[in-house]
Amino acid sequence: MLEPEVTTVVLPPSALSPDRSLQPRAGDALLLVDMQRDFLPGGALAVRDGDRVVPPALCLLNLFAERSLPVFASRDWHPAGHSSFREQGGPWPAHCVAGTAGAAFADGMHLPAAAGIVSKATRVESDAYSAFDGTDLGKRLGAAGVKRLFVAGLATDYCVLHSVVDAVALGLSVVVLRDAIAAVDVREGDGARALQRMQELGVTFAESAAVCSGA
Ligand code: ZN
Repeated sequence: MLEPEVTTVVLPPSALSPDRSLQPRAGDALLLVDMQRDFLPGGALAVRDGDRVVPPALCLLNLFAERSLPVFASRDWHPAGHSSFREQGGPWPAHCVAGTAGAAFADGMHLPAAAGIVSKATRVESDAYSAFDGTDLGKRLGAAGVKRLFVAGLATDYCVLHSVVDAVALGLSVVVLRDAIAAVDVREGDGARALQRMQELGVTFAESAAVCSGA
């Protein structure tokens, strides 16, 4: 099925063919945003077609791990009764309660031992869409000498968008893997608008195949 954002965002031709400048190298890191079971089909807050992002994201994960480049994985890690849950007056069904099966990373997502896990929205009273919000991710990227951040995961119009906005604000150059993100689209077009905003921020869009052979 054709997704709305495909028709509304024009990618530069360079994003569609292999590009040596997109090869992960020293100074690059990968951020996998909230690739958790509750955001995947069958989960408590499933992103439609969210599972299509898993193979390309895992290919990127393997590539970065093979090259011993830094990998970070953010996760919603809510206490029970979190303020974002409907029962507490928030917008979302209960999801990603710390330590539950729904909060676990996607099946097959084997993080290297050195990977940084970034838990966010861990306090009842505050939510966090960005992987940088209330976490030490920015510091850890700085300490690792990261200049360019490759971003994949869920969801385009929430945690991916907000993480990208914060990464750009920190001065990082950002590559978003177009086929390794998916939108919630609570309002139709949210995903497309999120991509538009990222484009305005100067983000580079790429298909995972341009980075990760065999994706
Ligand atoms: Zn959440």
